Amino acid sequence: MSTDLESLLALQADDVVIHGLQERLAALEPRIKELDVRKQRTLDAIARTTTAVGAEEKKQAWLRDKLAEHKQLIERNQAQMDAVTNMKQATAAVAQMEQARKIVAGEESDLLAINRRLEELRGVLANQNNELAGVGAEQEAARAEVAGQRVEINAELDVAKAKRGQAATHVPDGLRAKYDRIRSGKKRTEAVFAMSGMSCGNCDTAIPMQRRHVMNNTGAIDLCEACGVLMYFPG
Ligand SMILES: [Zn+2]
Repeated sequence: MSTDLESLLALQADDVVIHGLQERLAALEPRIKELDVRKQRTLDAIARTTTAVGAEEKKQAWLRDKLAEHKQLIERNQAQMDAVTNMKQATAAVAQMEQARKIVAGEESDLLAINRRLEELRGVLANQNNELAGVGAEQEAARAEVAGQRVEINAELDVAKAKRGQAATHVPDGLRAKYDRIRSGKKRTEAVFAMSGMSCGNCDTAIPMQRRHVMNNTGAIDLCEACGVLMYFPG
């Protein structure tokens, strides 16, 4: 193996390490983001439940007023009934009374239903507030952990980059420029591939015998015309 190739492969190995560290850094973000999303979802749910509780409380207050009003009406009817003097008045008073009692019974059952709903909603709200507290605690722990990991990875990254800088000085300028161009242009982690049999180790396109011979005999690093990576003859 030629020294240029060895140096180039060493440089690529360092770049692969750097790429791995950068991916680990990027992978830390979604965890924080996911917790932010969960927190927002919980806050939205709390806002919705709070609105629902408010609406039910308003209905409850309104119904209580109506109920008090109608109970008073029944009391007044009762007083009127005591004062009736003939059959016709008595019949009318009884009918009125029955009607008022029916209304009151309906309102009482509505009020019971509202009370039950309110109890349910307040239970839901309590659970949602617990969830929020849980997410908050989780978020704090995750942030601290992620911050620690970030510091660790960045330290490794500094070391890896220094090592890469050193490795780069061993690769001839022209070859290094070509290598860098392939990596950045095609946004690839690796730009140098060993040939696989008679084909490019990356895209599997067969390489003409003439070129294979040259690479085999001189240790030359050649460009794959199909996928644009650098190839070398292994062994
Ligand atoms: Zn190829």
